[in-house]
Amino acid sequence: MRSKKSYNDIRSACPLCECDDLTHYKTHRFSMIEDAGVYDGYDVVSCDLCGMMFANNIPSQIRIDDYYHHFSKYEVCNTTPIQSEYRSFCIECITELVDINHSIIDIGCGYGDILRKLRNRGFNNLIAVDTSAGNIASLATNGINGINNSLFNLETLGVKEHDLIILMAVLEHIVDLSGALDIISKITKENGFVFVTVPDLLKFQTSADFPFREFSVEHINYFDISSLVHLFLRYGMVLEKQWSFPDTIIAAFRKTPHVKPYIADYIKKSEEQLANCVAKVSRFLTNQTPLLVFGVGMLTQYLLANTTFSSLNIVGFVDSNSNYHGKQLFGKDIMSPDCLRKETYIGMPIIISSYVHNEQIMAYIEKELHIENELVPLL
Ligand SMILES: [Zn+2]
Repeated sequence: MRSKKSYNDIRSACPLCECDDLTHYKTHRFSMIEDAGVYDGYDVVSCDLCGMMFANNIPSQIRIDDYYHHFSKYEVCNTTPIQSEYRSFCIECITELVDINHSIIDIGCGYGDILRKLRNRGFNNLIAVDTSAGNIASLATNGINGINNSLFNLETLGVKEHDLIILMAVLEHIVDLSGALDIISKITKENGFVFVTVPDLLKFQTSADFPFREFSVEHINYFDISSLVHLFLRYGMVLEKQWSFPDTIIAAFRKTPHVKPYIADYIKKSEEQLANCVAKVSRFLTNQTPLLVFGVGMLTQYLLANTTFSSLNIVGFVDSNSNYHGKQLFGKDIMSPDCLRKETYIGMPIIISSYVHNEQIMAYIEKELHIENELVPLL
């Protein structure tokens, strides 16, 4: 594994996980236009660790930014029918995420057709970001403010957090993906969105209309939805929605308050469930009522180790699994259910500590064992 890539480093490892164990597919070469090129080829590889496919052995982000600044070819609006349909489709997706009062920043906006369309829909809190001075000047004459700079300088320029970041056809061009996502997450509001479009690696084969279209000078990251999700998750952003469009991944990611949102939310929910379990037996804790616990599985084990459940006056445990009979938990015997008939246990409350067998256990105690002790199911 290599250390984290930076703005000034050439790419020689996976831009997603930084692993340098790579499988080589093709060395791709092209002739450069004199004084207008940035490199004459790269190696198409996949990462052996995470599976990301990308162009390796390419110059640093700082040189790529310089190339886009001087040789932008995105200063005219692509008006092919498929491109027009694509942009109209994206407008509909974006308006599902935000309303006209939200702030939107379009990074790598090019000609700015999306921003112009959004303004026509009534959105007025819009900022354009592009390395082309011509694009920003053109948008300014149409009343849309812009920043003529690289994505990588937005933090330094003091750009505030926005409700929506637009990254349409941008991420496939970025050398320093980690650096880019770090800045993007910083300028996205909590619970705000990043709207992303990239060519879909899984559709390269079926969408091929000329040789090596996707291995162009500028396309250096080849995403499928898995690698895209992986990339955003590393920066605390989860997949909110994905739309279906030919040959292109169109997706929205939401910035969550947690770095690992799924796990954090799961832990919170589970702890709330445990607190409910403990609340159901709190009166026994106060009174130190002698009682029995039916079920020695994970729920009981977790409650004993992590909550005031361990301070209950537990006389013994009962479980249907005969492999546990004769053993002890928390210093008390684990008995077979038949033992509940013993005179010693008459009238003693029985806590039912099971995830899925509560009703079966209670029916067994009442209808098979014919005892009338109070039953207290935890779940
Ligand atoms: Zn990797």
